[in-house]
Amino acid sequence: MSYRSGRHFLQIPGPTNVPERVLRAIDRATIDHRGPEFGRMGLEIIEGLQFVFRSKQPVIIFPASGTGAWEAALVNTLSPRDRVLMVETGHFAALWSRMAARLGLEVEMIATDWRHGADPAAVEQKLKQDTGRSIRAVCVVHNETSTGVTSRIAALRRAIDAAGHPALFMVDTISSLASIDYRHDEWGVDVTVAGSQKGLMLPPGLSFNCASQKALAAAKSAKLPKSYWGWEEMLAANKNGYFPYTPATNLLYGLREALAMLKEEGLEAVFARHARHAEATRRAVRAWGLEVLCLESAEYSNSLTAVLLPAGGDADRLRQIILEAFDLSLGTGLGKLAGKVFRIGHLGDFNDLMLAGTLAGVEMGLALAGISHRGDGVRAALEYLGECARAGRRQAA
Ligand SMILES: *Cc1c(COP(=O)(O)O)cnc(C)c1O
Repeated sequence: MSYRSGRHFLQIPGPTNVPERVLRAIDRATIDHRGPEFGRMGLEIIEGLQFVFRSKQPVIIFPASGTGAWEAALVNTLSPRDRVLMVETGHFAALWSRMAARLGLEVEMIATDWRHGADPAAVEQKLKQDTGRSIRAVCVVHNETSTGVTSRIAALRRAIDAAGHPALFMVDTISSLASIDYRHDEWGVDVTVAGSQKGLMLPPGLSFNCASQKALAAAKSAKLPKSYWGWEEMLAANKNGYFPYTPATNLLYGLREALAMLKEEGLEAVFARHARHAEATRRAVRAWGLEVLCLESAEYSNSLTAVLLPAGGDADRLRQIILEAFDLSLGTGLGKLAGKVFRIGHLGDFNDLMLAGTLAGVEMGLALAGISHRGDGVRAALEYLGECARAGRRQAA
């Protein structure tokens, strides 16, 4: 392959573009992970993570992809044959439930059409029917990355409370944390699962559990086998900023920098930026005459948009044409959406002009691929971004 000039557009919904500041932070000599400098860094990072999870509870860091933190959440809190209630919002929820079944849990699944989020009323009804209180956990994906649908976590918490059910509440925020408003403590979540390579703007390789006091209490009697994923040794070492086994030191340098950047921008501003880019993207999709996969406006994802092609359109061929012609990577359709949708990632280290370039690549690609559409998507997005910029200047004045 010959050299391709300019920057590659990595607009899949994770891994996301890693900012220069994070890359430079990672590019440093690895230090002694049992030395004093490391302990100070470890404490600073855990505190920074609590700020992002909006929690005063411990955050545990694993050198693993997000899938590892899924496993850690389950094996630390549950016992063989425990019942768990899950909602199949899409491909990632389906994968998490398959993992739960493999670990020896009894999974009860609430189905969806993969175009809506988890329905609080359906969860409440299932929990009310469980008069023996044998369901031990409710597990939900906050932002379903395969569909671009965001479930309403606060409403789901209220549903669990309305049923008066004691189940643990576990939430996967791998593609929402640091992109979409999320509040571990306020929303009464017991285990939050997250990963490094999406909103946190890092390369893949770190994942996280934030655990409530109720989850930590459940961990004392949970019987699923665990060793590498065990919270107890982690928490003991973390007290002084250390880890029970060799941590991913250079990724932690990057995490420290990413957390500093999120603090500088401010979480509210980060969420507003993601909301703006998501709205501009949806306006482009509608102006093309294409369909946003998510059918419920209150559940539109701010971190990615899944776009449904007209019947007969081949989304993977479109993605291939766009990659070859414009050096832009878009997300593929996953599971039963393969070939039918493509996904535009608009999360992480991203700005208006990067979005404009991304949408321009999609619009030109639709024409190249011969997919029937109208041509005004980029213009609709730019008009909206321009309006937002004008409003921002008025506010600042
Ligand atoms: C990316 C993602 C995962 C999988 O994480 P890996 O880092 O690939 O293991 C799980 N859940 C959601 C919602 C995701 O977006």
